[in-house]
Amino acid sequence: MKIGILGGGLSGISTAYFLQNNKGIKSIEILEKEREPGGLCRSFNINGLYYDIGPHIIFSTDKEILDFMINILGENKNKLKRSNKIFYKNKFIKYPFENELSALSEVDREYCLNTFLNNPYENHEAKNLLAYFLKTFGEGITDIYLKPYNDKIWKFDLSLMDTQMIDRIPKPPKEDIVKSANGIPTEGYLHQLYFYYPREGGINSFIKSFVGKLNENVRVITDSAVIELQRMNNKCKIKTDKGVSTEYDLIVSTIPIQSLTGIYRSNLPEDVRKSVHDLKYNSIIVAIINVKKDNLDGNFAVMVPDKDIIFHRVSKLDFLGSCYCRKDDSSTLMAEVTFSKNSFIDQMSVIDVEAKIIEGLENSQFIDSREHVNYIETRRFEYAYVICDLNHKKNVERIGNYFSDQKILLCGRFGEFKYLNMDAVIRHAKTLSEIIVKNI
Ligand SMILES: Cc1cc2nc3c(=O)[nH]c(=O)nc-3n(C[C@H](O)[C@H](O)[C@H](O)COP(=O)(O)OP(=O)(O)OC[C@H]3O[C@@H](n4cnc5c(N)ncnc54)[C@H](O)[C@@H]3O)c2cc1C
Repeated sequence: MKIGILGGGLSGISTAYFLQNNKGIKSIEILEKEREPGGLCRSFNINGLYYDIGPHIIFSTDKEILDFMINILGENKNKLKRSNKIFYKNKFIKYPFENELSALSEVDREYCLNTFLNNPYENHEAKNLLAYFLKTFGEGITDIYLKPYNDKIWKFDLSLMDTQMIDRIPKPPKEDIVKSANGIPTEGYLHQLYFYYPREGGINSFIKSFVGKLNENVRVITDSAVIELQRMNNKCKIKTDKGVSTEYDLIVSTIPIQSLTGIYRSNLPEDVRKSVHDLKYNSIIVAIINVKKDNLDGNFAVMVPDKDIIFHRVSKLDFLGSCYCRKDDSSTLMAEVTFSKNSFIDQMSVIDVEAKIIEGLENSQFIDSREHVNYIETRRFEYAYVICDLNHKKNVERIGNYFSDQKILLCGRFGEFKYLNMDAVIRHAKTLSEIIVKNI
């Protein structure tokens, strides 16, 4: 069997890795349009410093996959303890928000605590994300933090988003919230209290190490965009932008579903076409800002729910270890801004976006003055966050079933169109490869 994998991001590499030693598979080719593999797990070097597409930290509740990832990192790893904050009314509140309510003003604290303890939404079934926040955290925590922050990331009405993501948001024990309101901070989201990060090279060094574990049955072909995909009898034929045509017995597609249907040369049934059309996602602008001095102290990520500030999160990259610090006294911040196609932010010029980011850093007093900015550089990435609207599940199921009947199996964050982090991507690739092997 000859397998073609479309896309050389983490899911493409993982799928090849889990399939490579099977005797029924003669060869595997990974076709990647960029010059290097990694997709969203690429890192970029600016003035000697590596940065990711949003800092990619390694953590998981899936012990087997976490151990697997740590093993791939090998010696190149730092284990770090989370130090994240939420910036609310000019104060830094420990993350997760509900674990340090005592840091709020008395009015806000009472509002959060009372509406958590006497919650009229508690017994209602939560059919959307907003209803889930109200039911689980009460009105105060929802209105002050969860809703404005999530509005900023998703830029989509939370009452029209489904609850698929809720297992990522652990329900806080009642005692913890009462303690936190009484000045005894507690730790929430324990599965990511400690995390791993490559000691040097950014998250792409993890990808490089992973690619190094592929054997001679696997070819990673970069700088090779797939521009056509056609079903022919029992085979799939693909063509790349370099004019190369190849036939495969099976295709695993990890490229965004929209890109897949764009290159697919057979007729899509109308209902599948409509489902693809209805899928929603956000893009991201990632800015690197090197500053003479910042006021984030020893914190790593700071969530910013304030709607007047363009970014939703700022991370201080120096936190990640000495290889992410410049030799001078400057520090390096990363600001993230999500946007949807044709939105106001999408239409903004690079200069305007950069000016808005610097204005946000100044207004929040994360920096004392714009004069302290040594340099800023931004990049845009189209596919960043899958939006799980109320029709999402039905749509991805229909699309996945159709392609699987065509011997085109979908895998990965935008391949399956699901909110998957790195650990889930590797788990899905492992499961998919087991299914493939069983059916050879
Ligand atoms: C801002 C942000 C922060 C994140 N932070 C974390 C984190 O802290 N921890 C964590 O675990 N996860 C994090 N993630 C998630 C993580 O990035 C993804 O789960 C993972 O990288 C997805 O891998 P993938 O291979 O499925 O998709 P991708 O990385 O998107 O790979 C798809 C590949 O297909 C290629 N491609 C597309 N079209 C074609 C074509 N026509 N021909 C050939 N190739 C093509 C692309 O170039 C790309 O390389 C984050 C994601 C984002 C956006």
